[in-house]
Order: sequence, then structure tokens, then C-alpha cells
Amino acid sequence: MSATLIDGKAVAAGLRAEVAAKVQRFQARAGRLPGLTVVLVGDDPASEVYVRNKGIQTREAGMISNEIKLEGNTSQADLLKIVAALNADRAVDGILVQMPLPKQIDTQAIIEAIDPGKDVDGLHPVNAGKLNQGIDALTPCTPLGCMILLEKAGVPVAGANAVVIGRSILVGRPVAALLLAAHATVTIAHSRSRDLPALCRQADIVIAAVGKPELVRGDWIKPGAAVIDVGINRVPKDDGKTKLVGDVHFASVAAVAGVITPVPGGVGPMTIACLLQNTLTAACYREQIDPKGL
Ligand code: NAD
Repeated sequence: MSATLIDGKAVAAGLRAEVAAKVQRFQARAGRLPGLTVVLVGDDPASEVYVRNKGIQTREAGMISNEIKLEGNTSQADLLKIVAALNADRAVDGILVQMPLPKQIDTQAIIEAIDPGKDVDGLHPVNAGKLNQGIDALTPCTPLGCMILLEKAGVPVAGANAVVIGRSILVGRPVAALLLAAHATVTIAHSRSRDLPALCRQADIVIAAVGKPELVRGDWIKPGAAVIDVGINRVPKDDGKTKLVGDVHFASVAAVAGVITPVPGGVGPMTIACLLQNTLTAACYREQIDPKGL
């Protein structure tokens, strides 16, 4: 392996500590603590673990954390009522409705019902629109995490050729918008793109957000490129157990790339850390405090 490993766990821990220090300064100025409410519908085990970790890390950062757990058969109308109540609750700065939602609920209707000022997932069309216009807004957490990892690894983004693989509203599109805002030349590749290996070979930065285990191979990568692997895929091992792999074939890509994120321990830990940062940012906007000045 010749690439330098980007330690997402360490970067995330640093960001959480930074947010915790800013929360104290926020409290001194606003006279209250920022508050995040997470809504979980149903009992998907992975979502439960994720929501529990969000709660723990929110409290560790000194913020108020609330969880609302709803039955898996909750109707869309009832969930919309809960979202409306949270929108109106002055103590709530951030609302996060955990995805995926059960089939009877229209996810987009829920995303659009959340007050854009409390939309700490950054998925509301108002926030997505602002991001695309280069206006400060609440930005999706995983893409924000990718940008922080590039910055911490010292990767020059301005003027770089960046290829984003994947065009979801959760990762691909917003990370492309953030790269563009940081002055990269951005290509967004997706399931219908032709000759993905050739596109990637042009790239100084490759961001893989596909959900296909080890899709990106070493011979797709320009020597010295930065590779950020967003994918989280559980695959079977020879002994019958399972392991997590990314969208990048780590061994072959690490032999060529300049820097690379591992899976696990790369982008994953950044997502909750960025959620904490977004909750503080939302609280600052509501109190008319400049989050950059905290
Ligand atoms: P998604 O399924 O919504 O989108 C996948 C995208 O990949 C689509 O735009 C599709 O066009 C593209 N795609 C599919 N097959 C392709 C191919 N063969 N070549 C090129 N493009 C192809 O997924 P998502 O929500 O964006 O998540 C992507 C991956 O990132 C998943 O593995 C997910 O688990 C992971 N993820 C990780 C985090 C984290 O915290 N690290 C957060 C969100 C998502």
C-alpha cells in the first residue's frame, strides 16, 4: 500500500470536540442549549443502533437529545402531525426523521414537511437549492464529512478534476455541489454512465457513493489521486460470517492512490459528527448568531 490512510475516526473525534466547545459558547450567548430530536419509525435494527449512537454523541457534545419512537405501522398523516409539532416547538433546533421509512409513508412528503431551518439532514429542497446556488445552508451530513476529510488530508480541491460516482440526493448530488462550490471541475457518474473506469482515470479526486461492493478498482485510479469511499456494504466471508467493505477495492486502489479512506473508519464516523455540527448551525441561525464566529 502506498496511499496515506485518512483516519475518519480521529477526524470525527476532533470535530465532535470542536462542536462541544462551541456548544458552551453558544449557551453563554443564547442562554440555552441546542436541541436535536430524532424520529424513528419501526424497529429496523440498523436504524435503532444508529439512532442510539446519535443520541449518545449529541448528549456528549453537551446538546439536548430527544428520541421519538413510533410503531412501524404509523400512518403518513400521524408522522406529518408529529413533524408539524416539532416545527412549532421552540426548544427543537434540529429534526431528523430516520430513513428508510416504512412503505406506507412517502419519504419526500416528510422531507418537504420539515421546517428547512430545522432540517439538519439538509435534504429539504430549499436547502438543496441553496447548496446548488452556493448559499450557506444546512448541508447533508455525509457529503459535509467527505469535504472535511479532503481538507484535513490536505487535498487541493480548487481546480482539481473530481469524479463523484452516484447521484442520490443523500450523497452524490450534494457532494458534487460542495466540490463545485470549492472550485473543483466536477463529473457526476451514475448507473447509465459510459466507461466509468475511463472517467475515473481523469480524476484527481474520486468519491464513490454507489452501494456496490468493491466496484472501483486500482487500474481505474490516476496515481496519487484522493479516493473517498462512502460505500457501506455487508458481504459474506469465507467462514460464513460477514464483513463491511466499501465501494472501492481497497487493496488495489490503495496501491495507486495518494490518500484513501478505509471502510469502516473513514467516512462513516464523520456522518454523526457532521449532524452535531448541523444541529449547532441550525441553533445559531435561529438565534441569529454567526456559526463561523462561535
Ligand atoms: P443510492 O442507492 O441512493 O444511490 C446509488 C447511486 O449509485 C445511484 O445514483 C446510481 O445511479 C449509482 N450507481 C448504481 N450502480 C452504479 C454503477 N454500476 N456505476 C455507477 N453508478 C452506479 O445510495 P446512497 O444513499 O447514495 O448510498 C451510496 C452508498 O453509500 C451505500 O453503500 C450507502 O450504504 C453508503 N452511505 C454511507 C453513509 C455513511 O455514513 N458513510 C451515508 C449514506 C450512504
